[in-house]
Amino acid sequence: MKVLKFGGTTVSTAKNFRTLLDILQEESQLEKPVVVLSALRGVTSGLAGLADIAAAGKEFNGILKEIEEQHVSLAKELLQGETQPPVLGQLNAYFQELESLLQGISTLRELTPKTRDLVLSYGERCATYLCSEAAKARFPEVLYLDATTIVKTDNNFGHARVQSDVTDMLVRSAYEEHRNHLLFVTGYIASDEQGHVTTLGRGGSDYTAALLGAALNCSEIQIWTDVDGMMTADPKMVKKAFPLTELTYTEAMELSYFGAKVIYPPSMIPAFLKKIPIIIRNINNPAFQGTAIRHSSDKNGHKIKGISSISDISILNLQGSGMVGKAGYSGRLFSLLSREQINIILITQASSEHSITFAVHPTDAQKAKQLIEQEFELELLAEKLERPTIEQDLAVLAIVGENMKQKTGVSGTLFHALGRNGVNVRAIAQGSSEYNISVIIFRHDLPKALNSVHDAFFTELKKSLHVFCLGTGNISSTLFRQLQEHHEFLQQHNGIQVKVVGISNSRKMLFNADGLSLTSWQEELDERGEQANLKEFISRMQQMNLPNCVLADNTASPAPIQYYEDVFRSNISIVTCNKIGNSSSYQQYRTFKDTALQHGVDFFYETNVGAGLPIVRTLKDLMMSGDRVLRIEAILSGTISFIFNNFKGDASFHDVVKLAQEKGFTEPDPRDDLSGMDFMRKMLILARDAGYPLEAEDVQIENILPPSCLQADTVPAFYEELKAAEDYFQALKDKAEKEGKVLRYIGSLDQGKASISLQMVDEIHPFYTLSGSDNIISFTTDRYKERPMVVKGPGAGAEVTAAGVFADIVNVGTH
Ligand code: ADP
Ligand code: ASP
Ligand code: MG
Repeated sequence: MKVLKFGGTTVSTAKNFRTLLDILQEESQLEKPVVVLSALRGVTSGLAGLADIAAAGKEFNGILKEIEEQHVSLAKELLQGETQPPVLGQLNAYFQELESLLQGISTLRELTPKTRDLVLSYGERCATYLCSEAAKARFPEVLYLDATTIVKTDNNFGHARVQSDVTDMLVRSAYEEHRNHLLFVTGYIASDEQGHVTTLGRGGSDYTAALLGAALNCSEIQIWTDVDGMMTADPKMVKKAFPLTELTYTEAMELSYFGAKVIYPPSMIPAFLKKIPIIIRNINNPAFQGTAIRHSSDKNGHKIKGISSISDISILNLQGSGMVGKAGYSGRLFSLLSREQINIILITQASSEHSITFAVHPTDAQKAKQLIEQEFELELLAEKLERPTIEQDLAVLAIVGENMKQKTGVSGTLFHALGRNGVNVRAIAQGSSEYNISVIIFRHDLPKALNSVHDAFFTELKKSLHVFCLGTGNISSTLFRQLQEHHEFLQQHNGIQVKVVGISNSRKMLFNADGLSLTSWQEELDERGEQANLKEFISRMQQMNLPNCVLADNTASPAPIQYYEDVFRSNISIVTCNKIGNSSSYQQYRTFKDTALQHGVDFFYETNVGAGLPIVRTLKDLMMSGDRVLRIEAILSGTISFIFNNFKGDASFHDVVKLAQEKGFTEPDPRDDLSGMDFMRKMLILARDAGYPLEAEDVQIENILPPSCLQADTVPAFYEELKAAEDYFQALKDKAEKEGKVLRYIGSLDQGKASISLQMVDEIHPFYTLSGSDNIISFTTDRYKERPMVVKGPGAGAEVTAAGVFADIVNVGTH
C-alpha cells in the first residue's frame, strides 16, 4: 500500500485534478492508497497574512473573500450538477467560521500561536474537503479525514513535535476502521493532548504523508508536486537544473534543510526509520519517474548531488578576547538560543576561538542579539566580549552530496566559480560529515552564484558566457554572424556557450538575459530597443549580475573607456578592438591592467594591433615565459602597406592614394592614416606590453607627407597638394628601385625606443615581399635572436577583426 501526497501546486486546475484521479485509479488497482492533501497554492501564506492583518486591527474582509473565491471557483470547476451546492454550502460554512475567528482576533488585537494555527488549519481542511467531494464522482468510497483526529503532537504551536506512538496507533486504527474507504487526509495539521489544533511547520503536509506511511508500513510515499523531482537546484532560479534520479535520505535532508522546499526535511525521518522510499513526482509530467529518496543512491557521476539556498538570512557575530581558550561560551550561547526557540541555520567558529558566527532567520536576529546582550552582560561590561552585530541581506548557498568526502577538489570548484564571478564569501561552514559545504554570500549575488556554481559542477559545458556588446557597426554585426554560424560547433566540441545579452549603439539599447537573437537583433533593437544611454547600459549590465560576463567594446569611441575600471570592479571581463583606452596615458593603461588583475577578470585586446593576427597574445606568451624582447619591427597599417605595395613602376603616388580610398582602405581623410597616428597607437600598445612605460609623445614619427599636404584645408585640396608633390615621391621611389629596394613604412621598438619611419628595404629583408594590405611583425628576443619570429597576414577588415574579438571572447576565463 502507498501514501500519495498532493501539494498545493497540484490541484489548482481541473486538468491537474483529472490527472490526480488517473493516478489514483492506477495506484488503486493493487491496493487502495491513502491520500494526503495540502492547502491550495498560496492559501497558507494568505491565511497567515490575514491573521496578522486582523491582529493589527486592519480590514481583512477583502483578502478573505479572495481566498474564499479561489476555493469556490475551483469547486465550480471540479463539481457538476447537484453535487455542487452542498459543497459550496460547506465551504461557505468554513469561511464563516474563519471570519468570526478573525473578527475575534481583530477585536482582541491579539494573535496567539495557538489561534494562528487554528486559522491556518482552514487551508488544509477546505482543500481536502473540496477535493474529496470532487473525487467521489470517480471514487464513491472516498472519505474525508481530518488529521487532527489521528496526528498527535505537543503544544508547540506553529512547529509542533509529533508524538509518534499515539499517532501510529491512531493512524492504524483509523485505517482499519475505514478499510473500505479511500481516505483523503488533511496534511500539515494535527492536535495536542487537549485537542487544540496544531501545525507541523511550513511545508508540513509532506511530513504528514511520511508519518502515515511509516505508521502503516507502506511500500512507498509519493510526493506529487509541480517539478520533475528533486532537482540539482531550484528550477525557478537555475534554468539548467535537472532532476535527480536518486538521493539518500541524508542528501535529501541536507538539500531541503538549505531551502530545496520541494520536500519538508523532517519528512525524511519516519521514512528513514522504516526504510520506506519517498518518490517525488510531477503532476504535470506524470509519466516521468521523478526522484527516489532511499537508503543508498546511485553515484551520478558528478562531484555533488545538488545546490540549495536560503535567500534571506542574517548573521550575528560573537567575538572577543575573553573567548580564547575558555570553555563554555558556545555552550551558553547555543543553549540560550535553543531555549528561546531561535533556529540556528549555520554556525562557524574561527580556529583562533576568537569568534563565533551564526546565521538565523532575519525575523529572529534582533531577538537573538538582545538575548546575547542579556546573557553576556557581565562579559560585555568587562570588555571580554564585543557587542554582537547583525549583518543583513545575506543568503546561504549549500552544495550537498554524500560522495563529496571521497572526492578532492570539491571546495576548489565551488570557490573558483564564486571568486571568478566576484561573489564575496562572508562565511563558510562545512559539516564534519562532509555532506555539505555552505557559504554565506550577499543576497543580491545569489542568482549569479547559484548559476555559476551549477555550471561548474553540472554542466557539460565548460562555461557559458554572457556578452554585452557596445557598437553595432561592421565589427559587431560580423561578430554576431560568426557567433551564430559557430555556436553549435562551439557548444558541442568546446563546451562553450556564448549568449549576447545586451546590445547598444549610440541610438538604442536592448537587453535579454536569456540571449538576444543573433539573426534578427537589428530589427529587435530598432523596434523594441530603449533609448541608448551608456551609463545606464553599464549599470544595467552590473545589476543583471550574470555569471561569466564580458563587455565587448566594438566602438572606436572614447566614451566607453571611462567605464572600464568600474566594469572590472564589478568582476566583468572586457574584450575590445577599441585602441583608445590602451593608447591614452600610460597611467590609464596600467590601471586597466591592474584593476582587471585584482578582480580576477580578463582584459583582452588582441584586435588593437593587426586585427585578428596573434600579435598581442604572442608577445604576452613570450613575456610570460620569461623571454625578453630585444627588438620589434612591424608594418601595422594595412592602408599604408597597400599604398607602398602598389606604388611601383609607372604609378603615381597621388593615384595610388586615390585608389586606396576608392577601395575603402582609408579613413575618409587619408591623412588620418598617412599621418601615422593609428600606427603610432599600435606601436605604443606593443611597447607597453613589451614592458616599456612609453607615452604617445615618446614615439617618433617620420612624416610620409610633405608639410604642404598636411596643411591643406580640405581633402580635395590635399589631393591637389599631393599631385604637386609627385616629384618628391617619385624621387623616393626611383632611389629605392635603383638600389633594388622597396619603400616600407616601418615601426620599430629598439631598446625601449619606439619610432615609425619610411625605410627602403632590400630583398633579404622579411618585409620586402609584403603584399596587398597585409601586416607583418617580427620579434627579436633572447630566444629568437638569430632568426626573428615573424607573424604575417591580413591585418585589417571586419571579417578578421571580428574573428579576433570572437577568439578573445571565447578565451575569457581560460586562465
Ligand atoms: P507543493 O505545494 O507541491 O508542496 P512546494 O512549493 O512546497 O510544492 O515545493 C515545490 C517547489 O520547490 C518547486 O516549485 C520549486 O520551485 C521549489 N524547489 C526549490 N528547490 C528545489 C529543488 N532543488 N528541486 C526541486 N524543486 C525545488
Ligand atoms: N499548506 C502548508 C504550507 O503551505 C503545508 C504544505 O504545503 O505542505 O506550508
Ligand atoms: Mg511543499
